[in-house]
Amino acid sequence: MINEALNTLQKYYGYKEFRKSQSDIIDSILCKKDTLAIMPTGGGKSICYQIPALLFNGITIVISPLISLMKDQVDNIKDLGINAEYINSSLTVKETHSIIEKLNNNEIKILYLAPERLESIDFCNLIRTLNISQIAVDEAHCVSQWGHDFRTSYRYISKFIKSLSKPPVVTAFTATATREVQNDIIKLIELNNPEVFISGFDRENLKINVLKIPGRLKYVLDYVNKNKDQSGIIYASTRKEVDNIYENLVESSVSVSKYHAGLSDAERKQNQEDFVYDRVGVMVATNAFGMGIDKSNVRFVIHYNMPKNIESYYQEIGRAGRDGEKSECILLFSPQDIMTQKYLIELGTQNPERRINDYKKLQNMIDFVHHNGCLRKYILNYFGEETPYDNCNNCSSCLTEGEMVDKTLEAQKVLSCIYRMRRDFGVNTIVDVLRGSSQKKILQYRFNELSTYGLMKNYSKKNLAEFINTLISHGFINLKEGEYPTVVLSNKSMDVLKGHEKVVFKESIEAKKISEDNELFEILRNLRKEIAVKEGIPPYYIFSDNTLKEMSLRYPLDKDHILDISGVGQVKYEKYGETFLNIINEYVNKNNIEVNWTEKIENKISHATKAVNKKEKTHEITIDMIKSGNSIKDIASQRNLTIGTILTHIDKYFREGNAEKLNINFDGIFTEEQEKSIISAVDKLGVERLAPIKAEVSDEISYDAIKAVILKNYLTNRNNLQ
Ligand code: ADP
Repeated sequence: MINEALNTLQKYYGYKEFRKSQSDIIDSILCKKDTLAIMPTGGGKSICYQIPALLFNGITIVISPLISLMKDQVDNIKDLGINAEYINSSLTVKETHSIIEKLNNNEIKILYLAPERLESIDFCNLIRTLNISQIAVDEAHCVSQWGHDFRTSYRYISKFIKSLSKPPVVTAFTATATREVQNDIIKLIELNNPEVFISGFDRENLKINVLKIPGRLKYVLDYVNKNKDQSGIIYASTRKEVDNIYENLVESSVSVSKYHAGLSDAERKQNQEDFVYDRVGVMVATNAFGMGIDKSNVRFVIHYNMPKNIESYYQEIGRAGRDGEKSECILLFSPQDIMTQKYLIELGTQNPERRINDYKKLQNMIDFVHHNGCLRKYILNYFGEETPYDNCNNCSSCLTEGEMVDKTLEAQKVLSCIYRMRRDFGVNTIVDVLRGSSQKKILQYRFNELSTYGLMKNYSKKNLAEFINTLISHGFINLKEGEYPTVVLSNKSMDVLKGHEKVVFKESIEAKKISEDNELFEILRNLRKEIAVKEGIPPYYIFSDNTLKEMSLRYPLDKDHILDISGVGQVKYEKYGETFLNIINEYVNKNNIEVNWTEKIENKISHATKAVNKKEKTHEITIDMIKSGNSIKDIASQRNLTIGTILTHIDKYFREGNAEKLNINFDGIFTEEQEKSIISAVDKLGVERLAPIKAEVSDEISYDAIKAVILKNYLTNRNNLQ
């Protein structure tokens, strides 16, 4: 059964295999068992219900709360060749009826449905009689009032299922569910003795960074400018902060949009779409942004402020790298963030029980940013998952980047000043004393008589305040809350003062580029963008970043090759395959790249260096084989190289000025008629660029044929036959 599922995966989605957890979940559903699957964002939930939907006889109804995204979700799978529709409040009665008619005629395999529809008895009666084989409940945590997005209409699901004459398989999916929420899902959706799958929460491709550095805004501007060609989200806690970052980015000419509750519905919709369709690269937003955004090529998520709890943090960083490509998550912590979050808790809930819970979760978040060990391990343990390692080698604790600078002496100056001031003051007053200010308040408290007065006057006001904040972020001083937060010494401060503990910071952390330059990848991305604009769809619907990346490393040159690339299924090939192949062929030809298709990607990465070493010999081998009477086709198959590569070898031979006549056998590469048509195109357009020739001749003439005809009639002639 799972083989059939694998065939379906390859045919529609173009993926070669299921991810770890997907096959078990699909197996369970195909055995008609009710199933609850908890998988992290980006884990690949949709395929888990879509594949069974395609294999079952009847219809699958997907209940999803994400009404604003339903159209996109459905368009996306229609694009794969799957018959799907949706019904929600955005449709007219007429449109709804036309879909129901299609359902009755068995023309639809998957129907996405807004849960509110189930509140209408009339509507339920309309669809009750259909042949429904699976009900898939997406974002199933919405059924629980303990979950973070409770939706009353989810409570109607079980009643609807009971009203069906033939019981369907019921499946439920969510990315976040505590034990309590899991139990609620099983009970309230009435899953019958379900199989429960909890996938590992680890997202290995995400690099987790917590940075406690001065100058957050400068860092963000620098980072975004270095990664201008990448898509990313910057989260901030308040609208004001979002507006401020947004304006600064606009000023430094970054293509950016923003999203928060202060914007109108229309603005939010437009801005979200601009981001999803890659019309802008960066989105600055409050946590109001992101639910259900399945844009797969988000390469970075920056938290400008510390979020309110680990759950939100993990969900938000989960929006990076859904395509499995390497992506970065950067949390920029400042002690002020704690105050902001506490203020938001006070403002957010009147319920004392909830407030205690919120504070507890906030404390876990604070512990996380101060954690010295592996950050990934901390998060996974928080969600109850054991890690087989102590060191993930992909977080800012495990990787020691940035130069470590000993700041013990400066720290001792600050700490001893706080000690001598005897009463609790805020950061600004301490700065004033250390810089030797003669303000009234300073003189009034006779701080000018302290030995630490003016001890750090070489610092600017801003830099010294930032240094003290960094000491607080690292726990060398505590912050005491109140209307005016004050700083107080901790046990750790005393250890530093007594010289028992050193203060070592990463002085400055340079913003880096996420990925290396890759020219062909950029060319393919631009092509994807052009097609997306023409078709009015988000670019990643065409091919995901990692599909393009794989193309750019493996150079598929024909239909078989490109179908071997992960993410290229039959329908996608028919729609876009030729267009992408043309561009790749052109690139390979222009740059004289040798393509050995059997090479695996890992080998290809060092392709450039290896190729330089091998090249000299390899084209000589080809020439020797030609001299021994082998045809080009034979040489390609014996050497496991493509015909294009063999042609490149011959081309190189002649371009090097070799005068020896070669008797080349071009059998099977072009017909006589094709040769004539290529020659007449070349006469018109010249031999320098292949793409215009390809456009001129009929579609079935390949790049190899054009190259071969040019070799035969122009290059060999010029050097040998005159
Ligand atoms: P979720 O709903 O769990 O957040 P999605 O279903 O949107 O995740 O899948 C995330 C991304 O992973 C999508 O781009 C999807 O096409 C891709 N994906 C899913 N399954 C596979 C697979 N078996 N092989 C490669 N990519 C996959």
